[in-house]
Amino acid sequence: MEHTEKLRHIPKVDRLLEEPEIKEMLKSLPRRHVVLRIQAQLEELRKGILEGKTKEVSYDLLKDRILIELKKAKKPRLVPVINATGVVVHTNLGRSPLPQRLIEDLFDIACGYSNLEYDLSLGKRGNRFTHVEGILKELTGAEAATVVNNNAAAVLLALDTIAKGKEVIVSRGELIEIGGSFRIPEVMKRSGAKLVEVGTTNKTKLSDYEQAITSETGLLLKVHTSNYKIIGFTQSVEGEKLVELGRRYSIPVMEDLGSGCFVDFSQFGYEKEPTVQEVVAQGVDIVTFSGDKLLGGPQAGIIVGKREFVEKIRKNQLARALRIDKLTLFSLEWILRLYLDQQKALETIPTLQMITAPYENLLKKAKLMLKKIGIKDSPNFSISLKEGSSKVGGGALPALNLKTALISIAPKRLKIQDMEEFFRNYDPPIIVRVEKDSIVMDVRTILEKDQDKVVEAIKKLALIG
Ligand SMILES: *Cc1c(COP(=O)(O)O)cnc(C)c1O
Repeated sequence: MEHTEKLRHIPKVDRLLEEPEIKEMLKSLPRRHVVLRIQAQLEELRKGILEGKTKEVSYDLLKDRILIELKKAKKPRLVPVINATGVVVHTNLGRSPLPQRLIEDLFDIACGYSNLEYDLSLGKRGNRFTHVEGILKELTGAEAATVVNNNAAAVLLALDTIAKGKEVIVSRGELIEIGGSFRIPEVMKRSGAKLVEVGTTNKTKLSDYEQAITSETGLLLKVHTSNYKIIGFTQSVEGEKLVELGRRYSIPVMEDLGSGCFVDFSQFGYEKEPTVQEVVAQGVDIVTFSGDKLLGGPQAGIIVGKREFVEKIRKNQLARALRIDKLTLFSLEWILRLYLDQQKALETIPTLQMITAPYENLLKKAKLMLKKIGIKDSPNFSISLKEGSSKVGGGALPALNLKTALISIAPKRLKIQDMEEFFRNYDPPIIVRVEKDSIVMDVRTILEKDQDKVVEAIKKLALIG
């Protein structure tokens, strides 16, 4: 009985549409859209009443809730966030930020027509990958190159082209899963290739590969273990040896490098990762890697290697479904051009800048931010500077800890979860690291343009409650 009484108090859509604030919204949002959102809120209310959760119907509360929903609807869902996690190539946060100048240059391509698939010298139809093939060949020393939507697509396409219906030999230590459930065995299944595992998790020898070769073998595959590392009693086969084995049996060799980089990071004292050039020089027939991991460019999958295979890959019908779009292609070419001068690449590409930032600079940055915040102690929290470590992310250099400066915020009146939520719901959202007794912000990944916003957010946190 009481329910029916409450249900009768639910306002009509038309009444809400007459509210001045909602009327204002109708100027910038389609009427249908507004009506749907009001209806959804009314439905929510109805459900609450029927389940006995809603004690009373408050018209003002309902109106406020609708206005909040409508304001949200006016904004895009995909918004910029501030990465204070210290993971440089953070897949959940969009991996590599692009240089601002690139985006300025992108303007004309985005807002107009381009020679995407048009050969200006011949006045005839052309191919989109030609815009980056020359520079990729120059940078890697490969005979041929092509690009697709992402590295997962590159691996799938290469396997489908070269090993469909055949056996592919892979070391057990390289049957990896990377984030987003990209699993080598699954990708293999999709491509119609048959996986043949050899060796053990920690040790695989050249003879293991050789013994598994049959008349059905179509490919020897090496996969970068990306996000994990086996330490201790380990052995894997170098690309060079695998290439030699492949040559002896006339079986092509492919390497999925995952991150893939042109810069040798051992010059910064980091552990040695093979560069793309080095892997190509070993004679590997097909090498695939991402555009937006260590390379610091847009999402893309890059395939370089022997002409014979790259040409087959291009002609595969699947290639059309996995192709790269023009905005990405332009961005990729722009980034690749920087690598012609490595120093320039290191200075211009944000991902590389962040990975190689010296600790002294990070410390300076953190101190400056603390000074601007100007609070050491508030009733809500206490704030301090700490030393810690950042990660490269993106499955690159997983064992590497980069020494960094952290702004540590320890709770007093507030709870850790409340502080994390405050920053996450901030405009723009700030994604922080939650530790046992504090939240920390790693200054390494806080971009120059965002530093003052973070300072403001922390000042506001001091005022709430
Ligand atoms: C990241 C990664 C992939 C997938 O690359 P995307 O560009 O994310 O599609 C494939 N293989 C390895 C080894 C990787 O590290």
